[in-house]
Amino acid sequence: MRRINLKKANVARADTIRYINRQIVLNYVREKEPISRAEISQETELQRSTVSLIVDELKQRGLIYEIEGESTGGRPPTLLRLRAAGWMAIGVDVGTAQTTIAVADLVGRVVDREKFPTDTDVRTTFRRVISSVQRFIKIHRNIEGIGVCVPGLVDPETGTALFIPHFKWRNWPLASELRKATDLPVTVDNDANAAALAELWLGRPEIRDVRDFILVLVEEGLGTGIIFDGQVYQGVAGAAGEFGHMTIGKGAPVACAAGSEECWEAFASERATRARYKQRSGEEITFLQLIDKAFAHDQAAKEALLETAYYLGLGIANLTKGLSPEVVILAGDIARAWPLISGELRSTLAANTICSGLPLAPVFASTLGEDTRLMGALSLVLASKFASVVPA
Ligand SMILES: [Zn+2]
Repeated sequence: MRRINLKKANVARADTIRYINRQIVLNYVREKEPISRAEISQETELQRSTVSLIVDELKQRGLIYEIEGESTGGRPPTLLRLRAAGWMAIGVDVGTAQTTIAVADLVGRVVDREKFPTDTDVRTTFRRVISSVQRFIKIHRNIEGIGVCVPGLVDPETGTALFIPHFKWRNWPLASELRKATDLPVTVDNDANAAALAELWLGRPEIRDVRDFILVLVEEGLGTGIIFDGQVYQGVAGAAGEFGHMTIGKGAPVACAAGSEECWEAFASERATRARYKQRSGEEITFLQLIDKAFAHDQAAKEALLETAYYLGLGIANLTKGLSPEVVILAGDIARAWPLISGELRSTLAANTICSGLPLAPVFASTLGEDTRLMGALSLVLASKFASVVPA
């Protein structure tokens, strides 16, 4: 896999320098707009003349445009902005409960969306995805590409969904089928990887500047996305980040997707939390109902969430010892319960990190809310779009 540091110019290899420099400049405009050529030059350590050449080219391609900045006495400075409105992307979030399809611009503003319950039959679900996507393509012009995230293992090269545990779907050639049906570029990835990418591209500024972080996506299952040096760490065949199946104890309240009662997912997923609540109250409720009850001081709901927070802290402590990230982000509906669980999670993390002597990684709740996975799907298009700005 091609790895590029988008923050510094000096690592660029001679054969790809132009390609990389263009991405560096484009990325700075995206992150810091409005920004002047001089500021880009200063921050990237690229020469003024190189920046100007690249800027001219990006302007010609319609990717950026110029505005006049505020004068501080002399001639007003010329600032650069990303031409977000001209480009649209379609994001498809295939969730275990529902599938969301949306159209958004380059900065993640959703202009149109559709949802339906995900059908356990892969053909039925796919037919509905295709019909929504085709409808959106007719309505909205300038669709640049489609990003899809799925709750399972994806081959990042081919975009084939290798295995979706919740539905037991195997070897679904999602990217090639969607490409055939729409004639657009399609990128597919695992939902936790996509969500991590969304934090990098569309998350709050303090995350966008972090180069190494782990995103823990809590859902019916539990997945992690690893951002290493500003890019998703895929591992061989995209299988990295399967920490949901690391062994964390015995006698979990549920079995993981593969049937084990010892995996992190079996202790810390939404399913585990709901099962704990049921053990205490005898009642079966949704995860969001459980969070609402906990906020309304329901004791059983609070206890169920706190136990999950404990296991999240334990698992995150293990990840921190192995990968030493700058930050850990907790995503999924559980992020809504952050005020209830952050104390327990952080104290467990602190108690279990002590022996490693490592500094404690700060843990944040995702700021992308209920749309984290959808933003992830959209980010897949943004990331591939920016990466495809290849030399003319
Ligand atoms: Zn497992």
